[in-house]
Amino acid sequence: MAKNIPAIMIIFGGSGDLAHRKLYPSLFNLYRQNLIHDNFAVIGTARRPWSHEYFREQVSDAIHEFFDEVDENDVKNFCTHFYYQSHDVTSVEHYVTLKELAQELDDRYSAQGNRLFYMAMAPKFFGTIATHINDQKLVGSGFNRIVVEKPFGRDLATAEELNRQITASFDEEDIFRIDHYLGKEMVQNIMPLRFSNPLIKSIWNSDHIKNIQITLAERLGVEARGGYYETSGALRDMVQNHIFQIITLLAMDEPKDISSSSVHQAKKELLDSLVIPSEEDLKKHFVRAQYAGSDTTFAYRNEPNVAEDSKTETFVAGEVKFQKGPLKDVPIYFRTGKEFREKMSRIDIVLKHSSNPYGFAHSNNITIEIDPKSRIYITLNGKKISEPGIRREDLVYGLTDQELAQLPDGYEKLLRDVILNDSTNFTHWSELKRFWEYIDTIEDYWTKENAEIEELPQYAPYRMGPKEANHIFESPTERWIYE
Ligand code: NAD
Repeated sequence: MAKNIPAIMIIFGGSGDLAHRKLYPSLFNLYRQNLIHDNFAVIGTARRPWSHEYFREQVSDAIHEFFDEVDENDVKNFCTHFYYQSHDVTSVEHYVTLKELAQELDDRYSAQGNRLFYMAMAPKFFGTIATHINDQKLVGSGFNRIVVEKPFGRDLATAEELNRQITASFDEEDIFRIDHYLGKEMVQNIMPLRFSNPLIKSIWNSDHIKNIQITLAERLGVEARGGYYETSGALRDMVQNHIFQIITLLAMDEPKDISSSSVHQAKKELLDSLVIPSEEDLKKHFVRAQYAGSDTTFAYRNEPNVAEDSKTETFVAGEVKFQKGPLKDVPIYFRTGKEFREKMSRIDIVLKHSSNPYGFAHSNNITIEIDPKSRIYITLNGKKISEPGIRREDLVYGLTDQELAQLPDGYEKLLRDVILNDSTNFTHWSELKRFWEYIDTIEDYWTKENAEIEELPQYAPYRMGPKEANHIFESPTERWIYE
């Protein structure tokens, strides 16, 4: 593996939660693996008037909070590479100072003009930062890459505008749109599972797969993020990015090879055949709802910073279909919501039954559990031991406890990819555009519907979401496997 990639990294939002909890511990691990070492420096920028020393203390704290045991010399040396610049995103002169500091550090660390920009701030600032990077010519003379956090726009029009601002300074292959689900171990396992097992490859088609079900369930409510959530809702927050990325990995054709360009090409070809739902589809196969609260918890509409008459959904279930690819016309159902019975991210691949001489047998469903466990299991039929008939056993593929303990955080994997210039596990503009086209159609329909309804269906907290979601299926023989 390539070692010691020289670069100056500029983190916009260097005092924020994401930087503290994810970026600094991840960078520290990459430093310990020598991927970044002598020839790198990080400039953290944010509003607060911190000194370099105080910033280094914050970075050191972040590492101690994340790791149980660390070599103090490693931490100390690592932190010497960190610099802070107090910065207001709208102020031109701050970008000029930033540019000078980046150049000074580039000379000091022989970073060869390479720049990594990381937008770890509220999304409303992304466009302004991109415009200033361009106007004040912050890009270096070597490689220039930019990492953009979610959400990338609020609809297709705002995503296009943001993309225009970013592409003024960066080529598409240098834009790394983060979707942290693509850093998850079991999401990264979908391609090997599908393409390296002849057993699975041979049944991955509409002859054998009845439907696919994706559940991304959260136990928590919106907590302190009610203000943000009001501008988003479950559809934009979870379906537009994470659920769609999972779906493309499940439904695309086998790529020519596993290079980033081939994988993105396979996704693009699939998404060209995405069926945009009609009003009739939306009535039959989609459900949105809000959590109703209990004696001990608020109803969504009583949460802080949420409108009393809010029609923002905290749960959505629906269907995705494609006109091409191995899963042509196979329903892919999804549901995601807050205040579920438990935190659970899983994919159930429901296989068709075939006739058998025993009368009853279970279908050979495949489940990919993403969180909280990282495992795949396949339902098998076998004989009952002491009586006639068929019994069900699960064949389980999972990580050992030792492997789980060593598993790099998703952010570490994705940052490594950025440094090594591998954009396979990032969202390409051609994908994002299609995701928004689909989402906008639903949002437009809901906006019209809102004028006619008093309130959204409510669902009891800490169960399995609204009962209406049990009726979105195309046929009466379908039901949620995980219930
Ligand atoms: P945060 O509010 O904790 O941090 C925001 C940062 O922006 C702070 O450093 C703040 O000082 C800085 N800032 C705000 N206004 C500024 C201004 N006018 N000028 C200069 N700096 C300013 O936010 P966060 O939770 O770290 O989230 C950052 C991004 O990461 C968001 O896009 C979010 O959606 C995404 N994200 C966060 C998490 C997470 O776990 N926190 C997870 C996934 C994605």
